[in-house]
Amino acid sequence: MECVFCRILKGELPKHEVAGRERCVAFLDINPATRGHTLVVPKRHVERLSELSEDEAAEVLRLAGEVAEACVSRLGAAGVNFWINQGKVAGQVVPHLHLHVVPRYAEGEIRVEMHQKQAEQGELERVAQELRKGLE
Ligand SMILES: [Zn+2]
Repeated sequence: MECVFCRILKGELPKHEVAGRERCVAFLDINPATRGHTLVVPKRHVERLSELSEDEAAEVLRLAGEVAEACVSRLGAAGVNFWINQGKVAGQVVPHLHLHVVPRYAEGEIRVEMHQKQAEQGELERVAQELRKGLE
């Protein structure tokens, strides 16, 4: 079964487009968390952030920022969240990278709970070492 976002981008399924650029498109999420909740989607099918070219990454991020400004100026948002869910365990439902632009109007309308707690210094250093090896 073909990716639903690829089908939307081909015009096989409808979308409420808000902006189109050379390498990406912004359209409304059909299940908005708030009014104006928009998805910025690269035209090329990639699943993970690291698969984007530099040009694609720059364009996706720039368009997300522009959509956010429109949410403020046109919809009256007081703030905006940007997020990417990567991998099923992280909540990625469609396996085609998409950046959520979620305008915020009032505190408490969305809850993102991270349950952060202070870590031991030795553990932080072990994790940092491991990540540095992956980034060499
Ligand atoms: Zn796709």
